[in-house]
Amino acid sequence: MANQKNPYEILGVPKNASEQDIKRAYRKLALEHHPDKNKGNKESEAKFKEINEANEVLSDSKKRAYYDQTGAMPGDHGGHGGGNPFAGGGNPFGGGGFDVDFGGGGFGDLGDVFESFFNGGQRASSKRKKAGPYRGNDMETTIKLKFDEAVFGTEKELVITKLDRCEKCNGNGAEPESKIITCKTCNGTGELRAIRQTMFGQVATQRPCDMCEGRGKVPERTCTHCQGTGRHKKTDSVKIKIPTGVDTGSTLKVTGRGEAGPLGGENGDLYVQIIVEKSKEFLRDGYDIYTEKEISVPQAVLGCEIPIKTLYGEIKLRIPSGTPSGKMFKLKDYGVQKINSSDRGDHMVKVTVAIPSKLSRKEQELYEALLKEKK
Ligand SMILES: [Zn+2]
Ligand SMILES: [Zn+2]
Repeated sequence: MANQKNPYEILGVPKNASEQDIKRAYRKLALEHHPDKNKGNKESEAKFKEINEANEVLSDSKKRAYYDQTGAMPGDHGGHGGGNPFAGGGNPFGGGGFDVDFGGGGFGDLGDVFESFFNGGQRASSKRKKAGPYRGNDMETTIKLKFDEAVFGTEKELVITKLDRCEKCNGNGAEPESKIITCKTCNGTGELRAIRQTMFGQVATQRPCDMCEGRGKVPERTCTHCQGTGRHKKTDSVKIKIPTGVDTGSTLKVTGRGEAGPLGGENGDLYVQIIVEKSKEFLRDGYDIYTEKEISVPQAVLGCEIPIKTLYGEIKLRIPSGTPSGKMFKLKDYGVQKINSSDRGDHMVKVTVAIPSKLSRKEQELYEALLKEKK
């Protein structure tokens, strides 16, 4: 295959180009190199073909993702020794989110590798792999947590239904003992060519063979359990460890627990979106906690010690004499423990002074006496 060229370079667009950018670049180049305009010009003809191939990949989100991940054109299984233009890094989604190393050990017993955590950022793409069977789809699910579960961390079991690897054929789609033969649909090339009508006239396109998923080979007898697809619907239960400090909007990534790839392709990942219930007692903002506490006029005037309920139990807060209503007190490190850290946020207590509207006879006399005293 001659598809060693980078489709982004061919269309002259950056790796993060939008669909619109790609469409625009493609139109411009395709018009420029269209065979009708360049009759007999071999160079233009080759260029036109190249542009269409590049567009074929970049205009299809699945193919584009496949290329971004593998550095290979879908269906490109020919040797590409050093041809990978992305070799050595170059994460096209670079910059978004942040990875946290959970250190492995602690979660080993859960059977899942809990790879990263990030808040609202973009997903970091997973490791590059060589061209081969397609990777399975990533999956996304939502989990609701109680306030305390999010603050203190917990373990949860998620049950998801997904396309999982067929256990009878171990994903290769072949009946046990069956031979693997050359795909008759694509004659072993792994791709199908077609003439397509486009706004520029007829265009030859190629796409991975449906029959063999681009492998060029198929089993002689297909697995009866999965009809040769290598996967089938299954219910999977995934245990996940929720770290302390997650909040609504946090996403957890469980590597390799998404859908199985067709015909033995690598699994996608599972993304778990977190929603946290509100607490009746605590208002949370990031890692900080906010509460209010009412004190009486004499308490504010004379000073006092009041009990405050915190995430970590009740403590006594000293209110100095002459405290005005609305004053904030900071309980340092009484907030939420930060993700993957021993640091905590703070707990802010807003103290308000309650002005009585109904007074007992005794209180009435005392306030009147006070009033006289002040004159
Ligand atoms: Zn099977
Ligand atoms: Zn085929």
